[in-house]
Amino acid sequence: MSGNLTKSIQYLKSVGPKRAEAFSKIGIRTIKDLLFYFPTKYLDRSTILNSIKVLQFVRQGYQGEVTIIGKVISKELIKYSRKSIFKIRMKDSTGTFECIWFQSIKYFYDTFNEGDYFAVSAKPVLTKYGHLQFVHPDFDRLSEKESSDFLNTGKIIPFYRVPKELREKNLGDFSLRKIIYQAVEIFADELNETLPEYILKEKNILPINEAIKNIHFPNSNDALNAAKKRIKFEELFYFECLVALRKNLIENRRKSFTIKVKPEPIKKFLNSLPFQLTKAQLKVLHEIRLDLESNKPMNRLLQGDVGSGKTIVALISMLIAVTNGYQAILMAPTEILADQHYKNISKLLKNMNINVCLLIGGQKKSDRERILNDIKNGTAQIIIGTHALIEENVEFNKVALIVIDEQHRFGVLQRSELIKKGLNPDVLVMTATPIPRTLSLTLYGDLEVSIIDEMPANKKPVKTVLRSEKKLPEVYKFIKEKTKEGYQTFLVYPIIEESEKSELKAAESYYKELKENYLYDLRIGLIHGRMKWQEKEKVMLDFAEKKYDVLVSTTVIEVGIDIPDANIIVINDAERFGLAQLHQLRGRVGRGSKQAYCILITKEEFVSKTTQLNFNFEYLSPAQIEKNKTIIRLNSMLIHNNGFELAEIDLKLRGPGDIFGTKQSGLPDLKYSDITEDVDILYEAKEMAFNVIKTDPKLSLEKNFIIKKILKENYSNHLHLSQIA
Ligand code: ADP
Ligand code: MG
Repeated sequence: MSGNLTKSIQYLKSVGPKRAEAFSKIGIRTIKDLLFYFPTKYLDRSTILNSIKVLQFVRQGYQGEVTIIGKVISKELIKYSRKSIFKIRMKDSTGTFECIWFQSIKYFYDTFNEGDYFAVSAKPVLTKYGHLQFVHPDFDRLSEKESSDFLNTGKIIPFYRVPKELREKNLGDFSLRKIIYQAVEIFADELNETLPEYILKEKNILPINEAIKNIHFPNSNDALNAAKKRIKFEELFYFECLVALRKNLIENRRKSFTIKVKPEPIKKFLNSLPFQLTKAQLKVLHEIRLDLESNKPMNRLLQGDVGSGKTIVALISMLIAVTNGYQAILMAPTEILADQHYKNISKLLKNMNINVCLLIGGQKKSDRERILNDIKNGTAQIIIGTHALIEENVEFNKVALIVIDEQHRFGVLQRSELIKKGLNPDVLVMTATPIPRTLSLTLYGDLEVSIIDEMPANKKPVKTVLRSEKKLPEVYKFIKEKTKEGYQTFLVYPIIEESEKSELKAAESYYKELKENYLYDLRIGLIHGRMKWQEKEKVMLDFAEKKYDVLVSTTVIEVGIDIPDANIIVINDAERFGLAQLHQLRGRVGRGSKQAYCILITKEEFVSKTTQLNFNFEYLSPAQIEKNKTIIRLNSMLIHNNGFELAEIDLKLRGPGDIFGTKQSGLPDLKYSDITEDVDILYEAKEMAFNVIKTDPKLSLEKNFIIKKILKENYSNHLHLSQIA
């Protein structure tokens, strides 16, 4: 990279030290940083109308949004006794129109001044005098020159986010645009290429300097799209290089142990179960068995909805390892769950003569030492704990299998972490987060995926209903009646403590209220995130032993502990929860054979809207989806019981975000790409990256030097033990 790009931006015209400092607060220090501060949107002449056209359209009944560029010719604050209105008149070359605001009037009054130019966008309306009007429009400021150039030349104008740090230094939309324009004009050509020549050619991709010029000041929509594609391709390409390197790391290793299934003990165990495995469980077990018997380490993701029976699958896998003379580790997301796994598994294995041990915090020192010793000398065969098992300095004897129960917090254990510890076991990660298959294959190209796509036959679907807060007394009555039939109930609240700002009910104060009023004659327990795990466990065990009829809780119960008689879950302020979380919470009930109920409590307005809502989600426009997210979430819970269907909806509602846990995966965040929208580019990038790494795993060919350099410069902390590290 040429020296100029690393210089401070203060040497750019109209920046200087003060403004440079403001820029540094938003992370922009060098000229290169500025070149990579991309527009958040663009104004394209083909989308601009003039006021006469708009007037015609509105008279013909047009309902959509339009954008007009105009100059402010007057502004006026109109005071009524209680309310005020701010109104401006604007003109373009064909006529005049007005914009009005009812709220944040002072802000808008200061923003709009006579002689200023703006692009305003909104749905136009006609006033009773027949004037064209925009109410609370979106707007972007332009300079006079920009607006005339724009209308004359048809260039596309970029708009940047202007954070308050910049505004405070009098840097507004067009001064920022000017500064960036300057930087792009003078310095973009100094950027060194960051992808190999042959990839640019083969994929017909813009060189980096062209891409940077066009992402800021594109001459056409095609140029803009080509620039975006280049930026996204590069990001996804390096991302996939990391995935491919990781895959290599695994594939090049061979296990130091061999496993061969011993049928007798497995049969004995299966016969001791009170149920038969489902077809889906048998299918995934077969996949796992092949991995265990292979000489390459297993790296498998086991997906299955809440209640689909992943634990048994894990246990049988562990039995296979143990009956071959090795140790198996089960890591749970929390200590309370580790403890539950320990109790369940010990019970299931009681006739099997296998040594199961639990290692978690808070155990007596002497116990802990004995357990550590058993783990070290190999007496401990199945070892259950949390992630701390790997993080702390526990010495193992001969581990062949690690199972990670991540529940819905899907993350991928870094194999490199294990290798550093001298372990190179088979790894099975279990998750209840359904990940669309194509995405998981691309994003986690180093993982094999098994899916349990069938629920045990004895499971009745949970009955889900939506009730207004006003109906709570009836809900409490229902709980009381059901308690007489032996039901237990979870009452869930979003947070623990009352904060003045939010209207959320606090579990603690609600607990008191319930105890004193509505449910005074029931036995009520309380559990929340601030408790130590031992305290939580005590409450949970008491609940499981039916010492309580009702458990008031925050979302801490969402990671699953099994309570067969807890067959009602009431979720308060249901609109506050994400879809995945609602489904996970619902999975806490219906574990026994009785009909289970999930009662979602929300505001009256959401209830009535949701019941009115009779549309098919598929047919909604993105804008409608955006407006109706809450209702769609609630409605989806009523319609669907299947986690995969809900996950697809969740993906559409939320965008990929961190649903897939790229954060925990040890892979970098994606800044410019969106894996749900940019699927085509993702596939291209993946194919290219995997080919490169396959043919040149150490990146030692000259044509790939640049890839190695970029990986080392920008992604060094993601390289771990890969061959190029
Ligand atoms: P999850 O996949 O959510 O972890 P679990 O493994 O905890 O689900 O299983 C939920 C419940 O279903 C457990 O009580 C388990 O014993 C039971 N179960 C598992 N497999 C079967 C089956 N094939 N038939 C009936 N019940 C099963
Ligand atoms: Mg589970």
